[in-house]
Amino acid sequence: MIVILKQNPDKAQLDMLTKWLDDMGISVHTTVGHLQTILGLVGDTSKVDIDLIQALDIVEDVKRVQEPFKNANRKFHPDDTVVDVGGVKIGGGNFQVIAGPCSVESEEQICAVAKAVKASGATLLRGGAFKPRTSPYSFQGLREDGIRLLVEAKRETGLPIVTEIMDLSQLGLYDDVDMIQVGARNMQNFELLKELGHLRKPILLKRGLSSTLEELLMSAEYIMAGGNEQVVLCERGIRTFETYTRNTLDISAVPVLKDLSHLPVIVDPSHATGKHSLVPPTALAAVAAGADGLIIEVHNDPAHALCDGPQSLTPKNFERLMRSIDALRPYAYGREA
Ligand code: PEP
Ligand code: MN
Repeated sequence: MIVILKQNPDKAQLDMLTKWLDDMGISVHTTVGHLQTILGLVGDTSKVDIDLIQALDIVEDVKRVQEPFKNANRKFHPDDTVVDVGGVKIGGGNFQVIAGPCSVESEEQICAVAKAVKASGATLLRGGAFKPRTSPYSFQGLREDGIRLLVEAKRETGLPIVTEIMDLSQLGLYDDVDMIQVGARNMQNFELLKELGHLRKPILLKRGLSSTLEELLMSAEYIMAGGNEQVVLCERGIRTFETYTRNTLDISAVPVLKDLSHLPVIVDPSHATGKHSLVPPTALAAVAAGADGLIIEVHNDPAHALCDGPQSLTPKNFERLMRSIDALRPYAYGREA
């Protein structure tokens, strides 16, 4: 349920309303927008008498929110959320490119890629330390050492770092990580999501392999319900009957998510396609569709990458893509407020 307040509401009446709701076990999230103030009511609102609230002097309108996601709902928060990752802002008109290798392999590799992507205009560095691999015999990541090397690359370049967490037991290692990624395979690891909700650190939440957009938003809700509102959603392709591409990029996810939610939405064209030649066209499609950013795999030597070489761009191809993105950005779709 949302309560839209009249301008300059009487404080005593507002406090009374909030207390009354609080006594019924309903939490109130206040959003002061540039046009109106909205109270988002979270909890079992079935017992709330809508006419009673509507009758208050301070109330302009009351609406029930049908969607099961509340904190992530744009009805609760009409303005775009801007997520700050170590000083780099995503959303609300701020477009960012996260780039780097699938996995951190060595100090030389991560530092060389970090410098190259920064020179081309990337503003955040990615790199996997804990890798969710389909086969237990594949490279599993450098783990703690991988995080240490990312921190080193951040020290050398100034780029804030984004890396995936696979299990709660790893959380203690992420103090110097600027944004924690929850990968597709963990999108519904609810215990992990709940714990990340207690942090005050940005979370990059990727869509599950076969998840609906509502399920993605409900996972964001798990994080936000704990008080962490710094969530960025990521469309990374879903399982379909098509086998030519690694996954099928659901480009419509971008405008749908941006309509339903105020959270920033970025696209991962690397995991969506699995082929480096398909990364530039799909990345540009995402920009055109109004994405708030991209996450792109870049490797200095894709042929010898320990993970996801076939979908990794060389620094040279990344540079070329970045120039196309710059040219396209002024024509990107922007949703109407
Ligand atoms: C990744 O970004 O390294 C990754 C494993 O992605 P996803 O979870 O989308 O497969
Ligand atoms: Mn990868």
